[in-house]
Amino acid sequence: SDAARIPALVVGSGYGGCVAALRLAEAGVDVHLVELGKAWDTPGTDGKIFANTTTPDYRSFWLRTRTKQPLSNFLGFPLDKDVPRHTGILDAEEFSGITVYQGRGLGGGSLVNGGMAVTPKRENFGSVLPTVNADEMYGVYYPRANAGLGVATIDPNWFETAECYQYARVGRKHAQRSGFPFLFVPDVYDWDYMKKEQAGTVPRSALAGEILYGNNAGKKSLQQTYLPRIKATGRVTISALHRVTSVTPASGGGYTVVMEQLDTAGTVTGTKSVTADKVFFAAGSVGTSKLLVKLKATGALPNLNNEVGKGWGDNGNVMCGRANHMWDATGALQSSIPTAGIDNWAAGGAFAEVAPLPTGIETYASFYLSITKNPNRGTFSWNAGANKVDLDWQTAWKQPSIAMAKTIFDKINAKEGTIYRTDLFGVYKIWGDHLTYHPLGGAVLGKATDNYGRLHGYPGLYVIDGALIPGNTSVNPFVTITALAERNIEKIVATDL
Ligand code: FAD
Repeated sequence: SDAARIPALVVGSGYGGCVAALRLAEAGVDVHLVELGKAWDTPGTDGKIFANTTTPDYRSFWLRTRTKQPLSNFLGFPLDKDVPRHTGILDAEEFSGITVYQGRGLGGGSLVNGGMAVTPKRENFGSVLPTVNADEMYGVYYPRANAGLGVATIDPNWFETAECYQYARVGRKHAQRSGFPFLFVPDVYDWDYMKKEQAGTVPRSALAGEILYGNNAGKKSLQQTYLPRIKATGRVTISALHRVTSVTPASGGGYTVVMEQLDTAGTVTGTKSVTADKVFFAAGSVGTSKLLVKLKATGALPNLNNEVGKGWGDNGNVMCGRANHMWDATGALQSSIPTAGIDNWAAGGAFAEVAPLPTGIETYASFYLSITKNPNRGTFSWNAGANKVDLDWQTAWKQPSIAMAKTIFDKINAKEGTIYRTDLFGVYKIWGDHLTYHPLGGAVLGKATDNYGRLHGYPGLYVIDGALIPGNTSVNPFVTITALAERNIEKIVATDL
């Protein structure tokens, strides 16, 4: 066809997509950045762009008529409620045995995440990305990613007195009394703004419970960091509410990319196609894996190798709560931005974030998101009958994660004489083993691609997001996704343009 021809197209605008778009544009390449979700630049009728966690509304979920909140219950009561179907910000995507939470919108997961910006310990890097030169990563690309994302650590003196971090100080006390190393976790939240929220001199965001459905202030998502720089190049065309559905070799070279335009009800209102010399898959671990598996199976990209769809992991995510004694109140006012973790990775395979439970009332609960060394890996495959991509995960595959998290919390409970909460994920259910926030893998570096993300079988096609990472990063993943993308795009700009 006579489709418009462009040098580079990037599918998805999370960390990988933003790094690719920025560095290509800086190198003088015109880029089309295509994003499934909304631009999230226009306030709703309440004057706010994003909804609060305490009152989910049409903005909160991706094309659902009922919320699917990660913490589904409280004191035994289900929390979910009906909402209008809308191209909202948080996708609770259901596969067999697991719900995968992902951000939808310009900025991807950066819009909905906790901003915890953790560089893995150097000694663990060999198991995170075994084929990547660690000296280069720790010397160049992790520092570049941390700088580009605006990563900073809480002022430790302020931490000692801030009302909104009482829950984290209780978490520290319990960790240390059981002999576990406790460390501050850097974040992209603006800590000066957080101090002002606590002092009551600015509108509250983290201290008003904003997080899962976006932050109206304070958090440096990609909308505050990479995206303004992308726009300033003048070389990047951005299409929000567009879903890439096909990529296939074009007759005159390059690739024909087909995309659907959506309205905010999720209805397809049009289809476009462009021809791009280079296509960067940055639709996230799940989005990129689904696209590649479908395109290989349906004959659009038949030469992709058999590693496509493999090596998917949940970063070992598992959640739990503990019930404290009355003298260990965790505070009615809790910052939604976690700031500390318990490190038992080497001994027990678990790194636990001390997470908030911002209900607005005293709960006497300590809440944790553990990242564990779960060895289980899933595979995406094409289901021709249902015309969709399946993932073969099983809920039982979280049992190693539970065992690893228990190396921390069984010990703390024994020491403190406390028990697990059983009311947060259903009726009498201790472990939040039904979900992940950290999908990784599906087009693993050095397997589905070469060691820089070039897809085997198709010159000019690249993967540049969390799909490259083989299932686990030992800590929260977005700094590693960003640093790896910075590494790969530097090589691609130097050698492939
Ligand atoms: P994403 O950020 O997922 O971006 C992919 C983008 O592609 C999305 O915007 C998507 O809408 C778009 N897309 C998908 N399919 C298509 C298509 N067909 N066409 C066009 N566009 C498409 N990580 C941390 O490190 N620290 C944290 O504190 C943290 N907290 C989290 C909390 C929550 C609730 C969630 C959900 C995640 C959290 N994460 C955290 C994980 C982190 O956000 C992700 O690892 C990260 O966003 C993945 O980056 P990515 O570039 O691989 O893809």
